[in-house]
Amino acid sequence: SHFYTLTDYPQGLPDRSLFKLETQTLPELADGEVRIRNRWLSVDPYMRGRMNGVRTYVDPFELGQPMEGGAIGEVIESNDASLKVGDRVSHMGGWRDIAQLPAQGVTPLPDLDVPEQAYLGVLGMPGMTAWTGLNLIAECKPGDNVLVSAASGAVGSLAVQLAKAKGCHVVGIAGAAHKLAWLESLGVEPVSYRDRNAHELSDAIKLASPNGIDVYYENVGGICLEAALSQLNEGARIAVCGMIDGYNDAEPTPGPSNLSQLVTRKAKMQGFIVADHWSSYPYFLNEVAPQVAAGKLAYKETVKEGLESTPEAFLALFEGGNTGKMLVKLDS
Ligand code: NDP
Repeated sequence: SHFYTLTDYPQGLPDRSLFKLETQTLPELADGEVRIRNRWLSVDPYMRGRMNGVRTYVDPFELGQPMEGGAIGEVIESNDASLKVGDRVSHMGGWRDIAQLPAQGVTPLPDLDVPEQAYLGVLGMPGMTAWTGLNLIAECKPGDNVLVSAASGAVGSLAVQLAKAKGCHVVGIAGAAHKLAWLESLGVEPVSYRDRNAHELSDAIKLASPNGIDVYYENVGGICLEAALSQLNEGARIAVCGMIDGYNDAEPTPGPSNLSQLVTRKAKMQGFIVADHWSSYPYFLNEVAPQVAAGKLAYKETVKEGLESTPEAFLALFEGGNTGKMLVKLDS
């Protein structure tokens, strides 16, 4: 089996050399364990938080130990009655080609007419995050004026479409021209944050959403948050899903200068972690999966080939190298 370890906790943007590909011979399966040949690996922004060496809502990666992450694969050996050879499963034994783990941590894929890697993206953790943040945290209602940052990413691209489907007016912030074009094709007002300061971005948001913002789905922080704050309507709700702009900061940066907008706009800002809402996953799947299968909800993937490309795929998230879900496809 081949797997990645982290050799040190990075300061700032991780250097490629911190990720080391290692080889091990797996022991025989213990009782209750399964062996899985991974076909798809997920890389996600939250993994950066596991590289700081401190516990947040999840333990840090242990230096020198196999890294972890979402993965989809096929059972090739089983010592547990709940799983058999050939089953397609999702689990957290990513960043490696062959995973061996207790069957309790392994979930068979639902039997739906979608490509299996969709369970790492639109129908997996990022999709569930979009649905949770929009519905349960921001309490988005029909007719709301909605703003989403990192709108063409895995989470953002579903958030904008779910809001559109509710009959909302939706503005999406993204970096590259092809991402803005995709958002526009989804009926979203596209706004670029590139080469703009917070004030200019705020003006651009105002042009795209003349009636202000009732719901801000926050994935970025930085100037996106500052610009959004100055366009809030009274009673606005901000769902703080992530703040990727700061994940590689070696020094803490000052917060938005206009946070007091929360007071004058009587707005609410709430963070959340999707894992706490996982009991609602069946409701999410029930609502969203048929629409994905029917092609009514669009999703995109950016696919890097081969286990060796996993660190690059991860690092590219911080440079906007992905449209939709960033994935690694293994050759098996
Ligand atoms: P994405 O697919 O959105 O990938 C990250 C994107 O963020 C990039 O493509 C890039 O798009 C944008 N980006 C990166 N750096 C910056 C920057 N400095 N300023 C502006 N935009 C930037 O990732 P996910 O969909 O997986 O995650 C989106 C957010 O949701 C992240 O903040 C993540 O941490 C958070 N999250 C939170 C969860 C929770 O439970 N709270 C669960 C899952 C995700 P562009 O080209 O437009 O710049």
